[in-house]
Amino acid sequence: MAIPVVGLTGGIGSGKSAAADRFAELGVPVVDTDSIAHQLTGPGGTAMPVIERAFGPSALAGDGSLDRAAMRARVFADPEERHRLEAILHPAIHAESLSRLEAAVGDYAVLVVPLLFESNRYLPLLARTLAVDCREEVQVERVMRRSGLSAEAVRAIMAAQLPREQRLSRADDVIDNSGGLAELRLQVDAKHSYYLANLVKALL
Ligand code: ADP
Repeated sequence: MAIPVVGLTGGIGSGKSAAADRFAELGVPVVDTDSIAHQLTGPGGTAMPVIERAFGPSALAGDGSLDRAAMRARVFADPEERHRLEAILHPAIHAESLSRLEAAVGDYAVLVVPLLFESNRYLPLLARTLAVDCREEVQVERVMRRSGLSAEAVRAIMAAQLPREQRLSRADDVIDNSGGLAELRLQVDAKHSYYLANLVKALL
């Protein structure tokens, strides 16, 4: 990797995107695996021809993007289908992340990976891991407000993610996002200073 990479993770609604936005404001190159996934499966996305060959035209929406609702139902009903979809998407997301990180210019880069410790795929790339954390009730509230999902739906997503304690025990660094956005920004600023002072000199 051209520059050191910090892996940013956290449960759904913990505030990963908000933290990543602040790193970007500070001039840190940010690569987000979720937005790469969306691009790859959006209209004209490079994963779409492969997905169409593997799953047929019913996997595509009218605009050529992935029909998310249809695919969600299919992979929910059949773990084998989930495995086939992931076997297409995961390597493509990984390759695109690598090429963006190779091209990144800065003292260090941030790579946002929601399931960082669940998959272990990205850990070898990273100099440091950073978890954004808040109480689970706060996660549920924020996601409900953001997406309109029910509390049960949010909790079902959270149940498929690593429990909070395990994420916290595995992360090198933690940002506590139980306060407001101003407090979150201050904490990102502090981590940024720390990474500049230490990571860049490879002292960590
Ligand atoms: P994630 O990327 O981890 O899923 P987001 O950064 O999208 O989480 O945050 C979830 C929602 O909560 C968003 O609507 C975001 O604007 C809001 N949010 C994040 N952090 C805070 C905070 N400290 N105070 C209030 N709202 C927040």
